[in-house]
Amino acid sequence: MSAAMSTVRVRFAPSPTGRLHVGNVRTALVNWLLARRAGGVFVLRFDDTDTERSRPEYVEAIREDLRWLGLTWDEEAFQSARADRHAEVVERLKAEGRLYACYETPEELEYKRRRQRALGRPPIYDRDGLTLTDEARAKLEAEGRRPHWRLKLEHEDIRWDDLVRGPCHYDAAHLSDPVLVREDGTLLYTLPSVVDDIDMGITHVVRGEDHVVNTAVQIQVCRLLGGEPPAHAHLSLLTDAGGGGLSKRLGSLSVADLRDDGLEPMAINALLARLGTSDDIQPVADMAALADGFDLTHFGRAAPKFDPADLSRLNARLLHDMPYEAARDRLKALRADGGAVFWEAVRGNLERFADVSEWHAVAFGDVVPRARAEDAGFLRAALEALPEEPWDAQTWGAWTGALKAATGRKGKGLFMPLRLALTGLDHGPELAALLPLIGRARAADRLSRAAVAAEAAAR
Ligand code: GLU
Repeated sequence: MSAAMSTVRVRFAPSPTGRLHVGNVRTALVNWLLARRAGGVFVLRFDDTDTERSRPEYVEAIREDLRWLGLTWDEEAFQSARADRHAEVVERLKAEGRLYACYETPEELEYKRRRQRALGRPPIYDRDGLTLTDEARAKLEAEGRRPHWRLKLEHEDIRWDDLVRGPCHYDAAHLSDPVLVREDGTLLYTLPSVVDDIDMGITHVVRGEDHVVNTAVQIQVCRLLGGEPPAHAHLSLLTDAGGGGLSKRLGSLSVADLRDDGLEPMAINALLARLGTSDDIQPVADMAALADGFDLTHFGRAAPKFDPADLSRLNARLLHDMPYEAARDRLKALRADGGAVFWEAVRGNLERFADVSEWHAVAFGDVVPRARAEDAGFLRAALEALPEEPWDAQTWGAWTGALKAATGRKGKGLFMPLRLALTGLDHGPELAALLPLIGRARAADRLSRAAVAAEAAAR
């Protein structure tokens, strides 16, 4: 095989009829990683033949979401721009007798299916359209009916080696002849997709397993058009944490919502690239590292669970390991850049990046000290015992050691009043790390305000 022929070319083919959700992202990501790993080409193709539902604003939103995730594309295409080519193929198939006109209304088709089921037969289209005489057609058209067009399937065994599901086969005799052209002349997705995959030299079609039956049809169509079918991989569909279908919840799992929720794109990528594989799900700092560990053969057939709580946990772990250099520009943008020492002191307490603002205020800004009446005397003693500067990582230990000896307090009784006074919170980063950042002036001010508040409460 020549080098040019072996170049992996994949496409992500969203219909611009809504925003991307985690299910779409997983498909995009797996295609992207496959291309990246193979040094291949990732094509973004907008399947916008449904002119009623496709919207330019969704095109832009999809681009924005992909960019935000880091899923950059090498080529972009619109199916709508290829309408002439699709029409040419339709005419050819009509001329060859492979596309035939049908006139049943949806109600008539439903009635046929019900009758077949009642007779214990599978509800497969009976090919009535194929037997219509010219006269019968003319009569139907005179009644004002317009045809839709079905592909006459070759009744053969259609086989492929699915890269995820293994050997697959469908007996075409068990499938209804698919409608390729609607009554209004617009095309369903089935045919344009094959034509474009052929013309664009797509080598691998990776998509959800809801497309398995389409694949059987599309493989036959591809051969009919003289193409060599691409390799196929069908990913099991995600389920919710309870094992149910995710489709109803997908509305709330859009990339835009996850972004608004403050999640890191790499947390989303790290989870979705490994869900359903035999690999461990670990925080991964960048796409190159994610591509390194990627292997399509690690995907299994079981339906993986998507749990937003897993995403949150992974997000936190990513932040806990994030080096200062990776955080610096974002800290600056949030006006929360307290330097590397600050970042390393607080990152372990972050669930979302923006939480850092709260700790920045604790270290360098204003806090409202909290105090309990019973700690009034202790807080005065703590203020008295505050060491002189310079302060470092040992200051906390020296100070609390002295306080322990002087007051007999220990454990929570010793630390909690200090934490409440110094941070206004009952939880947070190690005080040994925070104290030098807070510095003596702020610490003294907070302790004395806390003491005053405790004394007021004690009266
Ligand atoms: N536009 C189709 C979809 O969004 C693409 C499926 C495919 O990848 O072929 O389901």
